[in-house]
Amino acid sequence: MSIAFVDLAAQQARIKPELDARIAAVLSHGKYIMGPEVTELEQRLAAFCGAGHCVTCANGTDALTMALMAAEVGPGDAVFVPSFTFTATAEVALLLGATPVFCDVDPDSFNLDPASLEAKLEEVTTAGDLRPRMVMPVDLFGLPADYSAIGRVAEKHGMTVLADAAQGFGGASGNRQVGALAPMTATSFFPAKPLGCYGDGGAVLTDDASLAEQWKSIRAHGKGGAKYDIVRVGLNSRLDTLQAAILLAKLDIFADEVAARNRVADAYDRRLTGHLATPKRYDGTVSAWAQYTVKVANRDVVQKTLQAAGVPSAVYYPMPMHLQTAYRAHGGGEGSLPVSERLAGEVLSLPMHPYLDDRAIATVCDALIDATRAAAAA
Ligand SMILES: *Cc1c(COP(=O)(O)O)cnc(C)c1O
Repeated sequence: MSIAFVDLAAQQARIKPELDARIAAVLSHGKYIMGPEVTELEQRLAAFCGAGHCVTCANGTDALTMALMAAEVGPGDAVFVPSFTFTATAEVALLLGATPVFCDVDPDSFNLDPASLEAKLEEVTTAGDLRPRMVMPVDLFGLPADYSAIGRVAEKHGMTVLADAAQGFGGASGNRQVGALAPMTATSFFPAKPLGCYGDGGAVLTDDASLAEQWKSIRAHGKGGAKYDIVRVGLNSRLDTLQAAILLAKLDIFADEVAARNRVADAYDRRLTGHLATPKRYDGTVSAWAQYTVKVANRDVVQKTLQAAGVPSAVYYPMPMHLQTAYRAHGGGEGSLPVSERLAGEVLSLPMHPYLDDRAIATVCDALIDATRAAAAA
């Protein structure tokens, strides 16, 4: 039996007729840029998560960039980001001339630690050379960040919260979906994300109508009301109509897929609990399970043993951002963010997708338990 880390083929087989019809409709009307599917998708995404407005764009990195551009984040501004994340979170701040301030994460949730955020804020305020402007919590591996605690810290210091929900879309906290948990939310439709298209795609969500209008202008070269009236410096960052059509077909089954991912995670928990460190669960919080990530000792040995048993695994992420060559000038160096540094050496993500059956889950778990024994003996 071969086990897929992510199984897009099983999903495609399930929705093939709907996908084909959606794609055929675009080929027939020919509006490849800003066709009717784009507007339909934006309305359905906003409704899905209970946000007032959704503006799609070319990818998740641009979604973050557009949110920072509309907020006029730039030189002299501090943007607080977790160090244990994907590159894009820190990259966008630097692209706009702002300064990323790397914070540590919680060892159990893997998400931005509000206590570390407060400590870093105090450092920045004391140093006095940067203006605290923005906090960008990340829903790492699909688990919504602690938006209520982070929101309180942000408000106290006059900052805005931009949720990097590239992995978290589909999750929820309390009775609110990701997309409605922060004043601004950016997400990604990269194929391997919980809701992915067949190429690049992204979106930003908010309740603020005038902010949504600004984002629409930014994604189309900063256009104003009239044609060729340019009111700001923008980007070329539209979502292709074909990708919107594909996402519409996938959105029909998305809630069902998130539920299936949760069942897979529960099954992993049942088999692995007592053997190794499984992801912590939080009452009232639903993860989108972009990844199911365990912590192991001797990870190289574990991963090689798994590979020999035909079980794929991945390391997200092997190095925290404050130690990356391109970013380390903005960080405190080795030892400055101990949790992020430790997790980078321990995390291992297992196969995760909605179509993983009980037999595959059992195979992965048995192989993993054997591999951790082999690693302990090595
Ligand atoms: C994937 C990802 C992004 C970037 O999304 P793209 O669509 O690939 O540009 C940003 N942040 C996080 C946390 C991600 O996982």
